[in-house]
Amino acid sequence: MDWSFLSTQKISQVYYRHFLDRCFFCQIKSTQLICKNCLNGFFFNEQHCQTCKLPTSKPINLCGECQKKPPQYNQLLSPLVYQGHTKTLITGLKFSSKYQNTQVLCHFLAQTLQDHYQANSKPWPQALIPVPSHINRVRQRGFCHMTLLSRNLLAQLAIDLPLSNKLLEKTLDTAPQHDLNKSQRHKLKPKSFHCPSEVPSHVALFDDVITTGSTIDACITKLKEAGATKVDVWSLARTPAKGDESN
Ligand SMILES: [Zn+2]
Ligand SMILES: [Zn+2]
Repeated sequence: MDWSFLSTQKISQVYYRHFLDRCFFCQIKSTQLICKNCLNGFFFNEQHCQTCKLPTSKPINLCGECQKKPPQYNQLLSPLVYQGHTKTLITGLKFSSKYQNTQVLCHFLAQTLQDHYQANSKPWPQALIPVPSHINRVRQRGFCHMTLLSRNLLAQLAIDLPLSNKLLEKTLDTAPQHDLNKSQRHKLKPKSFHCPSEVPSHVALFDDVITTGSTIDACITKLKEAGATKVDVWSLARTPAKGDESN
């Protein structure tokens, strides 16, 4: 079933009617969306590479990848680490259709964005472009989770920013890639995306989780070919560094 037609504001209204004054997780009385106790189940991305926001175990300025090749985006904002409650909420949304999870997930990102743009008087992008899924994935899932997240995020931000989910398309179904190695997958990525029309000069590219950054990189290549000169990347969460990459 396609739930993407549902208004995010409607979802929020229903949500608040049922859960107002209660913690989203444990349902105890709380003036906050998440009570203090449940907040401990979230890992905030506080120690990271200054550029790509890769969470690290030790304080660093630039990670090895950013030293080798500076990213194409202007800035990347990602408030959470892909662990604990965040991982549960994202997988619940994507694989068990828990639409209500969008509210909490977007809550942290909306706060981070408001702090970044409003508090620092930085110009907001001209369009929000979610990282697209291939139509086969959307059909399989029955809904587009990035469209749901984008609508919820925009409702929480309450700013006049258009959702442009037609400016970037995924044309190649690259999901069954288990037989491809990392470098083969990397080469395939830019060919997976396509911009059917001109893109505004300053855009926000939005993804749920950023792991290696190769998807984001492929999308930005296409957005820049189609007219973008400045791309801000927004994500709910960043996958932590493996092993001891923070050295
Ligand atoms: Zn709680
Ligand atoms: Zn980095």
